[in-house]
Amino acid sequence: MAKSVYIHIPFCKQKCKYCSFISFPCTEKILGYVFSLFKEIDTNYAGEDIETLYFGGGTPSLLEIQHLKKIINKFKLASNCEITLELNPDDASLEYLKSLKDIGINRLSIGSQTFNDGILKLIGRRHDSKQIIKAVEFAKTAGFDNISLDLIYGLPTQTIETLHKDLEIFTQLDIQHISTYGLKLEEDSYWGKNPPKNLPDDDIQADMYLEINNYLNPKGYKRYEISNFAIDGYESKHNLNYWNNNEYYGFGVSAHGYIDGIRYSNYSTIEDYMNNPAQHSNGHIQTLEEMLEEEIFLGFRKEAGINLDVIKEKFDIDFERKYRNALKKFIPDYIEKTSNGYKLTLNGVLLSNNILAEFLE
Ligand code: SF4
Repeated sequence: MAKSVYIHIPFCKQKCKYCSFISFPCTEKILGYVFSLFKEIDTNYAGEDIETLYFGGGTPSLLEIQHLKKIINKFKLASNCEITLELNPDDASLEYLKSLKDIGINRLSIGSQTFNDGILKLIGRRHDSKQIIKAVEFAKTAGFDNISLDLIYGLPTQTIETLHKDLEIFTQLDIQHISTYGLKLEEDSYWGKNPPKNLPDDDIQADMYLEINNYLNPKGYKRYEISNFAIDGYESKHNLNYWNNNEYYGFGVSAHGYIDGIRYSNYSTIEDYMNNPAQHSNGHIQTLEEMLEEEIFLGFRKEAGINLDVIKEKFDIDFERKYRNALKKFIPDYIEKTSNGYKLTLNGVLLSNNILAEFLE
């Protein structure tokens, strides 16, 4: 049974150079899109109690309050439902933020990326560092006490020193959660086709990741997933639902969902989606072997690691027996035992793709 909902809002006023997310500049289509979302939700949502609702994008903060409110009201929300909205700093007026709070949004994920104004310009963001700081101030004034910021590392001209300055500002802002991304030149992005100069190499990017860990952990931001850090109690419930391999709804253009053992995705152009909002473009019934692989792949992303009792209950297998060769190969340098299972060590995190490949064959 699904307890989580993701809603994709695929509009951006301009495209960031590193971005390969599905987003389009045609903001004049927002109203029609919202009505398509209503149709998809009305057709496919089965009425379960929802514990996490996440507006992602694109730029969800381009939506009007009345539309966000109508979407939220489509769901039966659990009393402690975590409702997150991704916010672009230059959409963050105090009035808008207060209204978001009034309609029940209780978590903000602010697209900051870096506080270095030269790099913000270089990567094509619409905002500068002052606007990020203002957005956080306004969010706090509006009553938000669960705020996440994004940090990208491995950007052109970025150095360990400039990253360090970013980390100082992130922590001084006294927010609760930080999501980090190592830059990848995705094929579908502007930079995928026109690679930028002055990119830190892979070794420096790995050093940057270690710097982030070393800086944030002593400040109370614990790494609870490979790329995510939070003050205790402020881990993203929505993302933990993915990493715990639980089911969820995905609504909107190109959204993915996992319902009744079927992984599905929606049409990936606005036109196709708006013509068929209630119909998925494809779906795949997961085999037991695929479900197990995902449980392992996602579980090892978490700092808590995989839980042997959960795996036994879900799949009726003896994990240690089935994967004894891989465990033998990677313990103790890359995998370590926990009280109820196994997790990656920090060295293991750096080589996670290679290590996980051994469990997926
Ligand atoms: S990074 Fe975010 S704001 Fe920038 S183009 Fe992509 S979805 Fe839009």
